[in-house]
Amino acid sequence: MTIDQLNPNKRSLSDVQRANLTELTRRISLFEELIGYKFHFNPGTFYGFRSLADQLKVNSKSPKSSHCEGMAVDLADPKGEIYQFLIDNPDIVIKFDFYVERKDYTPGWCHIQIRPTKRRFFIPY
Ligand SMILES: [Zn+2]
Repeated sequence: MTIDQLNPNKRSLSDVQRANLTELTRRISLFEELIGYKFHFNPGTFYGFRSLADQLKVNSKSPKSSHCEGMAVDLADPKGEIYQFLIDNPDIVIKFDFYVERKDYTPGWCHIQIRPTKRRFFIPY
């Protein structure tokens, strides 16, 4: 995975956003290596960085989304397999220091972020 794949619309990035996105890219790439699977990049089915305007279109209830900081990715997960893998392997979640949104809140997607929250598998809002 590359930083460009996580910013497909080529939004301009602050230094902090770029650094966050670089770190997210690094961890997701290591995760891909570990599971031996490359996440497919399909615009529209895969989301990383969002500008505030992008975010408000997607979900106006979460203007402070970690997507806007370059700290989150949504992986298309129609069958919930990625999510289930993470639930079954909490050691991996901790190893990569991931925080995962509970799937009932993002059906069809697996939202992984590197911005810490209180729980590894968290409820948004
Ligand atoms: Zn997300």
